[in-house]
Amino acid sequence: MQQDCIFCRIVNREIPTKIIYEDEYVIAFPDINPAAPVHVLVIPKRHIDNITEVDGKDAPLLGHIMTVIPRIAAEVGIADEGFRTVVNTKDNGGQTVHHLHFHLLGGRFMEWPPG
Ligand code: AMP
Ligand code: ZN
Repeated sequence: MQQDCIFCRIVNREIPTKIIYEDEYVIAFPDINPAAPVHVLVIPKRHIDNITEVDGKDAPLLGHIMTVIPRIAAEVGIADEGFRTVVNTKDNGGQTVHHLHFHLLGGRFMEWPPG
């Protein structure tokens, strides 16, 4: 838990959100500033700054996140038509919240390449 981290504070229920999915390791909630008709953030409950900080001991956690993502996508109704999963990393990746998170974007066609 990092006191100054908004996503840690969401995990700790200090900032309210609508929880879409939760288990021992992961929580998912709507993005406050959606970039698509459906925009969900999936985060590990444990604070990790970004994907460059993970190592082999995090493989079960990351594998778990990859298995819950399609279940959450199905839950919010974007699994059948498809969706995009994005992990922005550091400045050039456009990361603004420095707690590892997976964006699930759906409900419209996603252009490629991203801006
Ligand atoms: P990134 O730019 O990849 O770091 O993504 C951070 C995302 O967190 C942005 O899309 C923000 O809109 C979103 N965000 C920031 N604060 C909150 C919040 N309190 N609840 C939900 N989403 C948030
Ligand atoms: Zn955090």
